[in-house]
Amino acid sequence: MANETPKTLQEAIVYFSNPTNCRDYFVARRWPNGVTCPRCGSESVTAQPKYNRWQCSSHHASIADKRRQFTLKTGTIFEDSPLGLDKWLTAVWMITSCKNGVSSYEIHRAIGVTQKTAWFMLQRIRLAMQSGSFEKKLSGHVEVDETFIGGKARNMHKARKERAKLSPTGMVGKIAVMGLLERRGEVRTQVVPATTRVVLQAKVREHVEAGSSLYSDSHPGYDNLEDAYIRGVINHAEKYVDGLIHTNGLENFWSLLKRTLKGTYVSVEPFHLFRYLDEQSFRFNNRKGDDKERFFKVMGQVTGKRVTYKQLTGKNDAEASSTSH
Ligand SMILES: [Zn+2]
Repeated sequence: MANETPKTLQEAIVYFSNPTNCRDYFVARRWPNGVTCPRCGSESVTAQPKYNRWQCSSHHASIADKRRQFTLKTGTIFEDSPLGLDKWLTAVWMITSCKNGVSSYEIHRAIGVTQKTAWFMLQRIRLAMQSGSFEKKLSGHVEVDETFIGGKARNMHKARKERAKLSPTGMVGKIAVMGLLERRGEVRTQVVPATTRVVLQAKVREHVEAGSSLYSDSHPGYDNLEDAYIRGVINHAEKYVDGLIHTNGLENFWSLLKRTLKGTYVSVEPFHLFRYLDEQSFRFNNRKGDDKERFFKVMGQVTGKRVTYKQLTGKNDAEASSTSH
């Protein structure tokens, strides 16, 4: 039993509470062909199990980071965290397996860290849920739509309302989000500065292969794309479906997203919204797998990504935002 990898949350908690299991599991995922130095890539490394780390034998004279000792966490989203991998891996399992997301309160209760710490853990894990580079454009039958998130003052907590009143605009505005969905395939979402023709069309051309069928509502932002796409426009004032012409796939995605944001994440600052979009898109794009497969996928994406406290709290976040899509 101890050597069997977990399939459920309950099994995951038990399994990862054992440090040896944590280490073996993560080593096998991170270095399937043997441990290599995360800084220089050398295979010539010596394990120092007593200190739970490795030492690289190569000289790091030519690279920025000269340190030769490394741990499992080095070069991952877990780097610099004092928390044990038992807590991290359990938290990753929770966020990847819960259909409607998991709140920092639930993580706080499940693994015994403060709610604030749990919040930071979740933000880091969301970074691992980001799709890396989009090597392939969407093609075939593609839906495009936009929606607006947040901003209703009457639903806001009193303290937030007070703050909102003090903001220069006098009101916390809604945030525009654009979505592209390849039917039977992948969804891509992102926060956009405006839903103007210039913004929307540039995104369509960037993400959708020419020659594809493109379905949208009658928003004028999608006019004049006929040069590159077979257009299907549904006028929602008249009807919602006309054969293949509809945006129901994205409508469903938006309603799931909004339910999650309202139900699980009581207050999402506009500034952090893109991380929640990444999370929801990840779950959608990996919907065919089971919990174990989704967990594997995220664990395969924890390396090569780092986010600092400053980036998470909003100071100096330009870098984090620009790498988000
Ligand atoms: Zn090295």
